Amino acid sequence: MTDCIFCKIIRGEIPSEAVYEDERCYAFRDIEPQAPVHVLICPRDHIVRISDAQPTQEELLGHLLWVAADIARREHISEGGYRLVVNCGVHGQQAVEHLHVHLLGGRQMEWPPG
Ligand code: 5GP
Ligand code: ZN
Repeated sequence: MTDCIFCKIIRGEIPSEAVYEDERCYAFRDIEPQAPVHVLICPRDHIVRISDAQPTQEELLGHLLWVAADIARREHISEGGYRLVVNCGVHGQQAVEHLHVHLLGGRQMEWPPG
């Protein structure tokens, strides 16, 4: 997807602050952080929404969560806790149509979400 902003970030066409990368995913700091730690973990494959993921991508979805938990450890927010968020579609208020996991931490979160 040439026009996708996160594909452009993954390809290095738009600058970002990388936190982690491997052959399956790329993680970078959110441009408008909502917490002291706010990292986005994206699959390199252009998957629009989590609801579009295919059975063959089940392992990839697990990998994104594993990477998020690993980044949390390295950002020293693991012990205090954190929140992982996947917004999906209109009701989920997903703004960027390339699947991503938000890792938010470093402050007390609240519930319920808006
Ligand atoms: P969504 O609402 O789709 O779940 O989250 C999209 C996130 O991407 C938002 O938190 C927004 O701040 C972030 N974002 C949008 N454009 C850019 C960008 O160009 N660079 C970075 N680093 N983050 C972005
Ligand atoms: Zn994309």
